[in-house]
Amino acid sequence: MKFYSTNNKSLQVDLATAVLQSLPQDKGLYMPVSIPDARAVVADIQDMSLAQIAIAIATPFLEEDFSPAQIRTICEQRIDFPAPVITLSDHLHVLELWHGPSLAFKDFGARFMAGVMSNLAKERQGQLTILVATSGDTGGAVASGFIGVDGVEVVILYPSGKVSPLQEKQLTTHGQNITALEISGTFDDCQALVKRAFHDPDINKKYLLSSANSINIARLIPQTFYYFEAYRQLSDLCRSQEVVFSVPSGNYGNLTAGILAQRMGLPIRHFIAATNVNDIVPSYLTRGIYEPKPSIPTISNAMDIGDPSNFRRIEHLYDHQWSEMKESISGYSYDDETTRRTILSIKQNHNYIMDPHGAIAYLAARDYQKNHAEDEIIVLETAHPAKFLPVMSPLVGDIDIPERLARLSRETKVATQMTNQYESFKSWMLAR
Ligand SMILES: *Cc1c(COP(=O)(O)O)cnc(C)c1O
Repeated sequence: MKFYSTNNKSLQVDLATAVLQSLPQDKGLYMPVSIPDARAVVADIQDMSLAQIAIAIATPFLEEDFSPAQIRTICEQRIDFPAPVITLSDHLHVLELWHGPSLAFKDFGARFMAGVMSNLAKERQGQLTILVATSGDTGGAVASGFIGVDGVEVVILYPSGKVSPLQEKQLTTHGQNITALEISGTFDDCQALVKRAFHDPDINKKYLLSSANSINIARLIPQTFYYFEAYRQLSDLCRSQEVVFSVPSGNYGNLTAGILAQRMGLPIRHFIAATNVNDIVPSYLTRGIYEPKPSIPTISNAMDIGDPSNFRRIEHLYDHQWSEMKESISGYSYDDETTRRTILSIKQNHNYIMDPHGAIAYLAARDYQKNHAEDEIIVLETAHPAKFLPVMSPLVGDIDIPERLARLSRETKVATQMTNQYESFKSWMLAR
């Protein structure tokens, strides 16, 4: 498969270039030149495991660059945790996407991308260095995805004092090929340092650099797998012919992958884009005007995004036709107070604990049901609630903390402190 830039259809590159570059030079986003037909997968899906689904879906995207054995290894080793569907009530289900090592759905994208990149590094016989700026969740998933991967080094930049203590442990306790830089500054400062390094000839002479950010096509492909996996389980549960997905959204990678799955032939009737007060896309869907804004901090902080980077891909998939997009996606947004009330009512009504992101998608599904009582809806639960104890505990009391999270609090943080000045970052990079 070749990939083109959304800004220029005739600029086509191979998978290696799309993955290692992450962003085309013309500031577009990479998209596959064609969307594979996966109706045969849908027809056979009852007999398939998640890893088998992953192999079948990934193959057309990767087969020009990787052998069938390599594709199988990437899928089996990287998509090695379950994504179970839980039924809450009639027509309402939850897809738990937090069973991976960092307890967030970003593990699907980050782990698969790590598998792809380590193969590419091997083929180039070079050492690949990944620079990633994180405001919290992404860094943890990337770190655990790349830990111990041969030929790849990861440098994570995070803003000192601005990530939660547990998130910080997820960034700073790996050791081996993962290095954490604690920057005295903001997330934007971290991102600016990374961006400048990518354009710095001295650094590029010494390192083969790549980025692991959320717009990388290698993170999008694996996010389609669990839509198929959810459909498999649901059609088992209730013989449903079509499904509606409610997706808690920030940068819209998750929803973009859902649209790709639909275009591949998965019977998806409708999408719900659920947000906190950062409602750029729901507002676009009602008004037809895309108006980016500075982001507003909320308790569902992974969705505090004022200019969602994957929106350009979605727009592209709908041929820039607002009317078509709003036929197939409904937007809902809620404030923190409503989110808190929802977390409480999910516990009271279903004896189930949802994190602030999933709770928003749950409430959107409920509101959608008012006019679509017979639709089968799957709510994507994107993180384990124990990742958000300061929000959760006052509402629902003690939460069982999974061992892989509990273990972290006993480990020692190792990070290099640094100012937000580019020169200090650069000399540190060059002296390594
Ligand atoms: C990243 C994240 C989201 C938003 O996903 P997008 O693909 O950026 O829309 C939602 N929930 C959680 C827990 C996340 O970490």
